Amino acid sequence: MNHAQNTSITPATAGNGTLSVVVPTHNEQDVIAAFHSRLVAVLDNLELEVEIIYVDDGSSDATARIITELRATDERVALLALSRQFGKEAALSAGLDHSCGEAVVVIDADLQDPPELIPALIAQWQAGYDVVYAQRSRREQETWLRRASAHTYYRLLSRLSPVPIPRDTGDFRLMSARAVVALRTLREQHRYMKGLFAWVGFRQIAVHYVRHGRHAGHSQWNWLKLFGFAIDGITSFSIAPLRIATYLGLMASTTAFAYGLYIIYKTVAFGEPVRGFPTLMVAILFLGGMQLLCLGIIGEYVGRTYGESKRRPLYFIARSLTSRLAARRPSCAVDDPA
Ligand code: UDP
Ligand code: MG
Repeated sequence: MNHAQNTSITPATAGNGTLSVVVPTHNEQDVIAAFHSRLVAVLDNLELEVEIIYVDDGSSDATARIITELRATDERVALLALSRQFGKEAALSAGLDHSCGEAVVVIDADLQDPPELIPALIAQWQAGYDVVYAQRSRREQETWLRRASAHTYYRLLSRLSPVPIPRDTGDFRLMSARAVVALRTLREQHRYMKGLFAWVGFRQIAVHYVRHGRHAGHSQWNWLKLFGFAIDGITSFSIAPLRIATYLGLMASTTAFAYGLYIIYKTVAFGEPVRGFPTLMVAILFLGGMQLLCLGIIGEYVGRTYGESKRRPLYFIARSLTSRLAARRPSCAVDDPA
């Protein structure tokens, strides 16, 4: 890896005022047109030259066709169609890899992230911040259970992770070019973007907003996926669970040892006969369960190591249309997946 890339010293706002907006999309045919017009309404009022990179993450509906139509009338639009569905994280990375703005905004296509907030993000960037993340102050249309679990999760995560990962923050944010360059060098397979955004550092600041329900279509997350995502978040940024396994083992063996002493004492002092079947069963089941749990934790990390060791590219691009901005400056296009 080229380390010169990591030590860029250009200030956050260097350059000539260009902005890339990266939008990952997967089966968003119902919202994409509405999203585009709302986004454009905001971008039209900016002093910056803009490109809008739609990444089509293997949609099976008309999403790619609609984006192609948008491109026909709007030269700011770019399309990156991935060869299949690689997931939002990879789609985002594809967009970031091919963005060429002095600042890059990452936003969901489902209108849960209000495009109207973009000027506020830009204002902070112009004030010298590298990463301006949008922080939710209230969640509309979400169940009590979901809110409570999100709350607990963010607190757990911030205690376990070595870099502070801002709570109630999604991927919606603005990054300066140098933060994006830094982010591009992180090519790990398990891409917990919130963590990666935090990990690159630079000057970061929050802008608050109210998150709405989806405009149309439905969220592609379910509880099982969310759980997997939560595990991903913790295991990619912390080895604390491995330590928990060690502590559990220590606790169990200390308890077993103390209990052994107690039995010996009872037998010697009172001559009680050894009546052990229930206690034995409990001890065996307890230890067996704990061993399986710890094996599972270790397995999680071994599996992760295996995934990384294959060093596969994060995505493939099947088809692309460039924006006017990128067409003028071929130097900003990054070679396909590093
Ligand atoms: N998305 C994607 N690939 C996927 C899943 C989602 O590109 O595999 C996109 C989706 O089109 C949307 C954004 O990522 O623009 C957020 O997705 P979603 O609304 O399902 O997630 P949530 O808002 O529930 O976090
Ligand atoms: Mg959404």
